[in-house]
Amino acid sequence: MDIKALNTETLSITIEREHCTGCMRCVRICPTEALRVRNNVVQLNEDRCINCGRCIEACTEDAIHENTTSVSVIYGYPYTVAVIPASYPVQFPEAIDYAASKKALYQIGFDYIAEEAMLADLKTSLIVDYVQNNPDIRPVISGNPAVLRLMQARFPSLLRNIANIDHPLNIIGGHYRDLVCREKGCPPEDVGVFLIASCASQISEVRRPDGLYPNLRDGAISFREIYRAVRGRTEDLLADRREVDLYPAGLSLALADLEAEKAGEKGLKTLAVTGVGNVLDVLSRIENQQLEGYDYIVLHCGINGQVGDSLNVENPCIAGGKVRNLVRKECGPGFDTEDLLRRSGNPGFAIKPLQPKQVMQLDGNIAKALEKIRKIQEIRNRLPGLDCAACGAPNCFALAEDIFFGKAELKDCVIHVKHLYDGVQRH
Ligand code: SF4
Ligand code: SF4
Repeated sequence: MDIKALNTETLSITIEREHCTGCMRCVRICPTEALRVRNNVVQLNEDRCINCGRCIEACTEDAIHENTTSVSVIYGYPYTVAVIPASYPVQFPEAIDYAASKKALYQIGFDYIAEEAMLADLKTSLIVDYVQNNPDIRPVISGNPAVLRLMQARFPSLLRNIANIDHPLNIIGGHYRDLVCREKGCPPEDVGVFLIASCASQISEVRRPDGLYPNLRDGAISFREIYRAVRGRTEDLLADRREVDLYPAGLSLALADLEAEKAGEKGLKTLAVTGVGNVLDVLSRIENQQLEGYDYIVLHCGINGQVGDSLNVENPCIAGGKVRNLVRKECGPGFDTEDLLRRSGNPGFAIKPLQPKQVMQLDGNIAKALEKIRKIQEIRNRLPGLDCAACGAPNCFALAEDIFFGKAELKDCVIHVKHLYDGVQRH
């Protein structure tokens, strides 16, 4: 596969094949089996990629990068807004506290900072209303973009369970563009609204024309870019005496269990599920009706929730501890959503439901799909079943699938070849 052919317009990742050693770490971790190693180089099936960024974290050779917007792009706008996720303030060393982490963005050159944390209470009330207004949908599910794209590809029957409510990052980004235009008397195109992305999947949502964050269309700057720019500036930040508003209670959105708890306090039976493996397991159980009785489930690919996102740098347990300590702090009035609600014109912040994406299905026709599974299983039965990944596919079933579709051969299985030489037959 020609790596240059990858659609970098919408993908959140770039692969530098010359750095790849074919170690298979990324192939084993990919939740949609979108990666293979062939001839010692990684290959991506971009239709299957949900842009979760787990492969970026897995690669120790720097062969997979996020497709970040460069920080320098912000200097082309008369006014700029940084939109920060709730996990942003807890990614820095202890010396850089919540206030200093925001001052860092002003020092880099942003004029305004809009925080997801400002809308934590609004998100809870939107979710509670959604659950109460949809008694026939249980559980109602919310998740980060990677989870939603995973559901589109692997759990299309559960798409109706998703709470079709706009994301706080998109709402607050749109609100700030409007606010700056009013304050400065300028047209919307004079305001650059940039997401500081904690997760690769957020980058893809900004880049896609049909993405989940249309209000953040000016760009998504990876948190790692910001971290690099801030490192070494600690003294400047501590000397910076400007006043900044803080919303510590709203940082609860950085931890899936706190987010679920807030909805639980309003009378819902809730559950928080984090980490790709757990998310896959719980979605399978919901699909098979083996997990019932919950009103609302928060799903997040990152460990502990947003703090474990793929572009964050702090250990998710340490970042989680910082969030809990901050959430307990009293700190002035929260964000007043009156103006935002008055101007929204969409009081429920409803968005269009996601449609199934048939990339993991073998065939649209069930009879034909079952026949294909039977044939793939036949091939799989000829393989050793060790799931060793030495062939470049993540497991024996994936290799059997590749063989069925003509993308690999039985001889790619080294153990199968060894058995042939040894005269061992598998039946
Ligand atoms: S971004 Fe996620 S889905 Fe895409 S190749 Fe990497 S691990 Fe797989
Ligand atoms: S993790 Fe993937 S991209 Fe990185 S070196 Fe290993 S096979 Fe190549």
